[in-house]
Amino acid sequence: MSISGQRINRLFWTAMDWLYPPHCGGCGTTGSRWCQDCDASVLLLEPPYCGVCGMPRQEIGVCDDCRSHPPLLTGIRSWGWYAGPLRHALIELKFENKIDLGEVFADKLFEIYLHCNWQIDHIIPIPVSRSRRFQRGYNQVELIAKPLSDISNIPYKPTALKRIKDTESQVRLSHSERIKNVQDAFVADSSEVDQSACLLVDDIVTTGATLENATKALLAAGASFVYALTVARAGRIPGDDNLAVDNDIDSM
Ligand SMILES: [Zn+2]
Ligand SMILES: [Zn+2]
Repeated sequence: MSISGQRINRLFWTAMDWLYPPHCGGCGTTGSRWCQDCDASVLLLEPPYCGVCGMPRQEIGVCDDCRSHPPLLTGIRSWGWYAGPLRHALIELKFENKIDLGEVFADKLFEIYLHCNWQIDHIIPIPVSRSRRFQRGYNQVELIAKPLSDISNIPYKPTALKRIKDTESQVRLSHSERIKNVQDAFVADSSEVDQSACLLVDDIVTTGATLENATKALLAAGASFVYALTVARAGRIPGDDNLAVDNDIDSM
């Protein structure tokens, strides 16, 4: 989007906020789309973390998992753990039409991107299946990826990656079943991604199976490197005995 297009988009949301005072996607209080209290409550994935998968660890470097099974992705980073108000807000964005949160999360991903030192040619949202898009009317990931493209001035390529398999919901699937479920679920358009560095955007990463399979399709189509940014990461939060997973999330 051009600068003026971006400005019109921001003006649109400012006007909407004036007409219909927004409520926070995390806690429901009126006044802003994402309040300061909810923002402060986010459990951030902070360094030092693995330079590849982005999982926090004791020191900088590459984790044992990435050493023993190097992922196809060159790098992945996420903003916060899938818990508390952030989890609530992502569910609102996905299932409750709270589409104004897309811009909020795009701003967060842009901040992370600025610290990554990645040279990116295209931003590509993880596509949802056609049936899910039909049910919901939108792909929540595009609502994050498009404004991220606008802020960063990195070209947006929403048609570069297609989902060719309607994967079943990941609910109640085991880790290995999830991986199988999304295998060969994507195909990429080489005329759009050949010899380029792609940035995949998704709302939540759980096992990483969806991102890995999307990466496989992009590399097969000639992409040189694939990176990923997600708003949240689901899994066992270090120092917390509760699982921040509800199994409703990956690849939907
Ligand atoms: Zn709030
Ligand atoms: Zn790692």
